[in-house]
Amino acid sequence: MSNAPVCKRCGAALKLDDILIHKKMISRAATEFFCIDCLAWYANTTREEIEKYIAYLKETGICALFPKVPKQ
Ligand SMILES: [Zn+2]
Repeated sequence: MSNAPVCKRCGAALKLDDILIHKKMISRAATEFFCIDCLAWYANTTREEIEKYIAYLKETGICALFPKVPKQ
């Protein structure tokens, strides 16, 4: 895919989680996204905090962007 989304700050290839957490933390209407490292820079936090937050959202299912993953 030649038009795969990349971080608007550093150009890193984006994963689905990167895009979803950007929508959650910045704007659901966003059309350009940060990777997690740049999102941490932008939000003045750390990658670890954001990864913990993603894990929390997935575990609780409280955010529609991160549907709860069924336990196997
Ligand atoms: Zn980046």
